[in-house]
Amino acid sequence: MSEAEVVTRVIARLVADADDRQAHILHELACSAGYLWACANTDCSSYNYRGLRYCTGCGWGREGKPVGDIHPSMYTEGRWTRLRRALVKHYAADAPLPDAVVFDYWGGPGWRGAEVTEMYGGTTKEITGGFRDRDRFGDIAAALDSLTRWSKPSYGGHIRVVLAP
Ligand SMILES: [Zn+2]
Repeated sequence: MSEAEVVTRVIARLVADADDRQAHILHELACSAGYLWACANTDCSSYNYRGLRYCTGCGWGREGKPVGDIHPSMYTEGRWTRLRRALVKHYAADAPLPDAVVFDYWGGPGWRGAEVTEMYGGTTKEITGGFRDRDRFGDIAAALDSLTRWSKPSYGGHIRVVLAP
């Protein structure tokens, strides 16, 4: 079991039998011990494990603000635009449009093998299998391969494409 799972389980167990005031204190203690961070979005106020980059409640960043694009700077604007267009086209058929789509690279066939998470205003949703499949995700897969050809992702590499206007 990873530290994240242990911490999450222990806190969930402690909070399960606590009243609101006790739960608040438990969360505050876990935050000051560095296990959790509190989302700064006042409409959300979720607590998140320290390893998480985005809030699981609202999908925003730690500062409680909507997040912007993150892309490795060596990628040209053209390749980036191509990826964004492919994603917008994909979701136009699929609706609703996520606020952002993030890619986390832990191995696999370049950026196409990255883990994919859709971020909506209130929730995040992991896409099983990501956009690996060239037959199903032609344009997106091609745009990701194009990024990979330009520069291979490194372990832990991260991309975020904001789609919301
Ligand atoms: Zn939040």
